[in-house]
Amino acid sequence: MESIRTLRIMQETSKRSLHQGKSIGFVPTMGAIHRGHLSLVKRAKGETDIVVVSIFVNPIQFGKNEDFDKYPRDLDGDIGKLREEGVDIILMPEAKTMYPQGFSTSILMGGLSERLCGAYRPGHFTGVATVVCKLFNIVKPARAYFGQKDFQQTVIIRRMAEDLNMDLELVVCPTIREGDGLAMSSRNAYLDTAERKAAAVIYKSLLSASEMMKGGAAGPEEAKRHLNEALKAEPLIAEIQYAGAYDPQTLEELSAFKKQNLLALAVKIGSTRLIDNVLVEKK
Ligand code: AMP
Repeated sequence: MESIRTLRIMQETSKRSLHQGKSIGFVPTMGAIHRGHLSLVKRAKGETDIVVVSIFVNPIQFGKNEDFDKYPRDLDGDIGKLREEGVDIILMPEAKTMYPQGFSTSILMGGLSERLCGAYRPGHFTGVATVVCKLFNIVKPARAYFGQKDFQQTVIIRRMAEDLNMDLELVVCPTIREGDGLAMSSRNAYLDTAERKAAAVIYKSLLSASEMMKGGAAGPEEAKRHLNEALKAEPLIAEIQYAGAYDPQTLEELSAFKKQNLLALAVKIGSTRLIDNVLVEKK
C-alpha cells in the first residue's frame, strides 16, 4: 500500500494507471475509519483495479461553531485498517496543499444544498462539493463510492457530476449499522454511555415510520408526526433539526407519497449532531 501526500504525485500515479488500462475506484473519507467506510472499500475492490482512499478532514465544509478541531483523527489506526482491507493507495493531503494561498474557486449549488442539513449547516455542501470535485480531478476515478448514510451528499455529488459532465460513475452503498441499528459514524465517538444507548431511537423511529408507511393508509404528514413523536419520547434527544418524508431526488418535503420516498432526520443528542435516513418504496 502506498501513502501519497503530494497532489501532483497522485495525479501522475493515476495517469500511469489509466494508461495501463486500469480502472480506479475512489473512496473519499474524513478518516476515523470504521466498518461503514470499509464496506465502500470492499465494494470498490470488487469492481475496480486500483482502490484509492482519501483521508482529509476538509476545513471548508465545517461551520465556525462546528467540530473541525475535535473531529476524531486516528491516522495510524486508519492506515492499519485500510492496509488490512487491501487498499492500494491512501491519499492524505494537507489542508495547505489542498487550499494554497490564493485559492478562490468553489462549487455553489442552489436548491439541493440549502435543504435538509443545508438549512442547518450553511456553506457545508459548497465545501463538500468543492473538495469532492478537486479530489475527482486529482484521483481520476472511473467509479466513486459514497454511503447512503449521507443521502443528501450523494444527491448533491450526483447533480454536480451530471451538471459538470464528470466522466465517472457514482456508487451509493447501504448504511452499515451497529447491533442496535445506530448508523456507524465517526461522530458516534462523541457520545457518552447514556447518549450512545439513547441514540438507538434514531433508527428505531425511522423503521417504525417506514413500517407504518408500508402498512398503507398513512400520508407524509402522519409519517412526520410519527417520527417526531418517537424521537421526542427519548429525553436525551436535545434537538430535532428535521425529521420527515422527502422526495429522494429534489429533497423537498412530500405532500403525497411517491413510489420512492426518503425518510430522513437530523437530531442532536447532547451536543452531538447525528443524521440517518431510510428509503421506503410504496407499492
Ligand atoms: P466520512 O468520513 O464520514 O466523510 O464518510 C466517508 C464516506 O463513508 C461517505 O461516503 C459516507 O457516506 C460513508 N459512510 C459513513 N458512514 C457510513 C455507514 N455507516 N455506512 C456506509 N457508508 C458510510
